Amino acid sequence: MSDQPSKKQIAIIGAGLTGLVTAYALLSTGHTVVVLESALQPGGMISSFPMGKDRIEYIYHHVFTHDQELIRLLAELGLQNRLKWYKPRDALYTGRRLYPFSTPLDLLRFTPIPLHQRLRTGLTVLKAAKVQDWKQLEKETAAQWLLRNSGREAYERIWRPLLRAKFDKDAEEVSAVWIWNKFKLRGHSRDKDAGSEKLGYMDGSFGLLIDTLTSRICQMGGRLLTGHTVMNISNSEQGQGYRVSCILENCQTVNFACDALVATVSGRQFAGMSTSLNWPDTYSRKLNHLQYKGDLCLILRLRQPLSPYYWTTVCDDLPFVVVIEHTNLVSSERYGGHVVYLSRYLDITDPLWSEPDGAVFRQFVQGLNRLFPHFSTADVIDWRLKRTHYAQPVIVRAYSGQMPGIDTPAPLIKLAGMAQIYPEDRGMNYAVRLGYDAADALRRDLDTTSRDCRTAP
Ligand SMILES: Cc1cc2nc3c(=O)[nH]c(=O)nc-3n(C[C@H](O)[C@H](O)[C@H](O)COP(=O)(O)OP(=O)(O)OC[C@H]3O[C@@H](n4cnc5c(N)ncnc54)[C@H](O)[C@@H]3O)c2cc1C
Repeated sequence: MSDQPSKKQIAIIGAGLTGLVTAYALLSTGHTVVVLESALQPGGMISSFPMGKDRIEYIYHHVFTHDQELIRLLAELGLQNRLKWYKPRDALYTGRRLYPFSTPLDLLRFTPIPLHQRLRTGLTVLKAAKVQDWKQLEKETAAQWLLRNSGREAYERIWRPLLRAKFDKDAEEVSAVWIWNKFKLRGHSRDKDAGSEKLGYMDGSFGLLIDTLTSRICQMGGRLLTGHTVMNISNSEQGQGYRVSCILENCQTVNFACDALVATVSGRQFAGMSTSLNWPDTYSRKLNHLQYKGDLCLILRLRQPLSPYYWTTVCDDLPFVVVIEHTNLVSSERYGGHVVYLSRYLDITDPLWSEPDGAVFRQFVQGLNRLFPHFSTADVIDWRLKRTHYAQPVIVRAYSGQMPGIDTPAPLIKLAGMAQIYPEDRGMNYAVRLGYDAADALRRDLDTTSRDCRTAP
């Protein structure tokens, strides 16, 4: 008898970076893989579109020097030379003024807070880098930890607006682990001497990574089906394996039979599509307990630059919370204009979430005009708005006990969504890691089941 495990049919739900990496890793084991994606193009949050002579993401993206899993994958795919490193300049907008905010020296010169609290703020970041056991921070909120370490004014002027910018109404609930991790990781991406940060961006956009993964998957015999929205996962009527039902653009339903599957969607979406599996109550509660923030990201192509800064954090009350002037990182020549993203994380119960695109555009550009009085709507060449429903998991206290694992209660069904990245936060690097981890977990189970079948009397 052969020792080779038999070839299995595997369905992957979602063709974002996690789903594509999972498919790529599983195909190398000889199984048959189909990736089902609801959108009309792969890439999920890293989807891109043509602009000028190049292509660009709908949502701003860059990488850090410590994003080693992603950097390794780029090398494996022959794309390492496409990743270029830059030293951007950052700013902070508060009290209707723009302050440079890239280096420790900028923090020392940040007059809106008293000097001793500037020093304490700097020490807070250094202290975070020294924390060895992040579990000790799980009991505390980021707000409590920052207040205690940096002081009231630093908290009110810098940290509170930053937490609100990312988590909106849930800002006060966010765990100290989240902010600790941000300090630690961002610290690693800094130059040892000048203290400024180094960020990476791919020539040709991260869409090139998605294209290359997609073509590798097809070359290895995998199939990618876009426009296939998974509605339901059920046990197969034949007794073994699963049936995945999808709805197509034309409202037709198609079913796929598979032995195993990996869902790379949010916990809540997974709960919705898998009700037929009758999960134990404790597991359903875990999935439905996960909280996410949505994101509105407006990309503008402008005739003129706005500022010398790549990243401007907005602490004053404006409709958006961050301005990313992409063409202060890379040259504007390739796009035929200056590219600026305006982003706002929000609860999807916020009325702004349901406003038509044109209304969001108007509010955002009015806000931009308050920030940069020289900016006028006549400077806008074109714009697009991207809405992401499950954009940012809310990492609360004691999250390690609440997070669902990659294994689900069902044999050969795995879940690999952004809310399962912890103690780090979501990001392309961790999507790559999660994709490989999900493939490993499934491969292990497939090997065990095929060994059990071979040894059964
Ligand atoms: C505003 C913002 C800025 C970001 N900036 C950065 C950055 O600078 N650097 C960085 O590293 N990371 C950044 N990220 C994070 C990064 O984009 C994500 O971590 C990564 O893309 C997640 O990939 P994923 O495959 O897990 O999820 P997704 O990209 O969300 O992929 C999931 C896929 O599943 C599909 N899907 C959902 N439901 C179904 C269904 N029922 N049937 C079939 N398919 C379905 C979706 O269409 C999607 O394509 C940012 C994210 C946001 C929102």
